[in-house]
Amino acid sequence: MKKIIVAIDGFSSTGKSTLAKQLAKRLQYTYIDSGAMYRAITLFFIRHGIQFNYHEHIQHALSDIHLTFVDNKICLNDEMVETEIRSMEISNVVSEVSALEEVRNFAVTQQQRMGIDKGIVMDGRDIGTTVFPHAELKIYLMAEEKVRIQRRYDEMHVKNDRITMDEVKDNLRHRDYIDSHRTISPLRKADDAIELDNSVLTMEQQLETAYQWAMKKIESK
Ligand code: C5P
Repeated sequence: MKKIIVAIDGFSSTGKSTLAKQLAKRLQYTYIDSGAMYRAITLFFIRHGIQFNYHEHIQHALSDIHLTFVDNKICLNDEMVETEIRSMEISNVVSEVSALEEVRNFAVTQQQRMGIDKGIVMDGRDIGTTVFPHAELKIYLMAEEKVRIQRRYDEMHVKNDRITMDEVKDNLRHRDYIDSHRTISPLRKADDAIELDNSVLTMEQQLETAYQWAMKKIESK
């Protein structure tokens, strides 16, 4: 059967990664969490004290970064950093880092390479617009803000029981604002993307909907 590319974009905590992971499993495709790549780059910058406005340092730092995925988990220079990249420290600055031109060029080039043989589900903010503008299926995932804040809070609270709802809300709004207002590849719905609002859908319902859309595209190829 012919393989396609599925691009899933949307604001923070709309459930993109959950859907992308489940859909990739059902289609027996590769799943790529592009946000994890930006988070791992941010972790490297923090660890090495790279100043975000120092373009020469940024380019140099990027040449020391090697990103891979092992069992859907991101590795930074062969170190699995899945837990470290999910911290609030990273979440607070990842949008600044991912707005940098050098960082975007670095990540997008690798993401496009990963999709060369198709059979991939990638989620992020610019997958359907910049990374794979010709993706056969583009889903723009949405959920009401209060639902997204609650989901994010539940996820973060397990790891850090001192985190407050306000902290989570501020971080979400801050990232959404930067992600949708930056100059390069801002988050926006691709013209040919299908909207999927999962505010009141179960995970099974959203997966079934996306799977049916994907199968239709695959069968029509
Ligand atoms: O998906 P996640 O929320 O983990 O992504 C973290 C951050 O990485 C986003 O807030 C955004 O700033 C950046 N990102 C991006 N482009 C993507 C994926 C993520 O700019 N394709």
